[in-house]
Amino acid sequence: VEYYLNRISEKQELNAFVEVFADEARNQALQVQSKINAGTAGKLAGMVIGIKDNICFKDHKVSACSRILENYVSPFSATVVERLLAEDAIIIGRLNCDEFAMGASNESSYYGPVKNNADQTKVSGGSSGGAAVAVQAGLCLAALGTDTGGSVRQPAAFCGVIGLKPTYGRVSRHGIISYASSFDQVGPITNCVEDAAILLEVIAGPDQYDSTASSKSVPSYSLDAIPDKRLKIAYLSEALHSEGLDPEIKKAFEKSIAVLREAGHVVEPVSFELLEYVVPTYYILTMAEASSNLARYDGVHFGYRSGRSSDLESTYKTSRSEGFGPEVKRRIILGTFVLSAGYYDAYYAKAQKVRRLIRDKTNDILKEYDFIMLPTAPTPAFTIGEESDDPVVNYLADIFTVQASLAGIPAISLPAGNNKSGLPLGIQFLGKRFGEGDLLNFSKIYC
Ligand code: GLN
Repeated sequence: VEYYLNRISEKQELNAFVEVFADEARNQALQVQSKINAGTAGKLAGMVIGIKDNICFKDHKVSACSRILENYVSPFSATVVERLLAEDAIIIGRLNCDEFAMGASNESSYYGPVKNNADQTKVSGGSSGGAAVAVQAGLCLAALGTDTGGSVRQPAAFCGVIGLKPTYGRVSRHGIISYASSFDQVGPITNCVEDAAILLEVIAGPDQYDSTASSKSVPSYSLDAIPDKRLKIAYLSEALHSEGLDPEIKKAFEKSIAVLREAGHVVEPVSFELLEYVVPTYYILTMAEASSNLARYDGVHFGYRSGRSSDLESTYKTSRSEGFGPEVKRRIILGTFVLSAGYYDAYYAKAQKVRRLIRDKTNDILKEYDFIMLPTAPTPAFTIGEESDDPVVNYLADIFTVQASLAGIPAISLPAGNNKSGLPLGIQFLGKRFGEGDLLNFSKIYC
């Protein structure tokens, strides 16, 4: 704990943490030490972990990096936090992220962008940018992020670490500040595959507080033997030819194909004609869900209340106008639009149908192949402040991560070397529903 606290203060300029629980972490460490001495310590004893600032921890602030929740203190802990603590992990602080996890560069955070430790002029990625940089820079051993459409995987790729999005329903969402409830999943960001496996094993499983958490029992991801098996892996031909794919990422991807083939695996192109629809479908559905989820921030029940209000309606208006940032407002407005009478069928209902097609087609590929491989992101980390003013351009950069989210399947981003300027690149593998064990075992050999 002292080691990480020192690292955190040395690397303060990265802006990875929103709050550090220094004294509490020291106390927790002493307690864990005595349990270790007594031989009663849990599986995660001594593991120093940071949590994204949209994961509730009883009696601690949680803000989703939004002004509207500034100074809000959670009265309960997320199930994932309870499970970490029950296995004697030490929670060292809460980590910066995009406001309400909406974004892919951590630039929409009320607390400002996070700097990439590989090059401090570059973004961390997002929305779990603080989590990825904290692991990259050695400010904690591992972190929990959340992934709605890539927010664990893409920042992991930008920072050269590992990010796993579990199957929808593998991990309880109880105590996670909702963005888009039919997509949100908690996932680990780690330096090595073994840490991702043991963390998933601890946080996964049924939960009486989340009816969408699957009742399926949790395998021993951390103990699984590595199979010596020839795998069949598909890559999407449309992805390799997609506009905007950085040439160095393409090269790294092709190199990974060659390495896998050399190792005896079958790697084949398959066509996925729905690729151009994944981003529009994802954004229509997530904005609709977000507009509904964020209706609860009314200036009355939680967090920020404007001092300029005189009656109920002006409380809503002024508190929401002052409390939410521009990206969140844009999504609430667009989400409300696609759900409104007269547009619902044309947008929301249509997008639900396309989601089903994307899921079915993806599952068809996975009937024939063990995994689908994709680059994690079309570009490496870009310069802070350089993101386009056109939100559509930014949304399109999620092209490779949202397919797994729409299909509800697990996906892992693994480091794939650096580009010529020393920026990390990532490669992603998508597995079958509840196939985290296979993905993790494969990743152990691949990494
Ligand atoms: N960039 C995507 C979005 O803004 C993904 C965010 C996430 O996974 N939380 O919605």
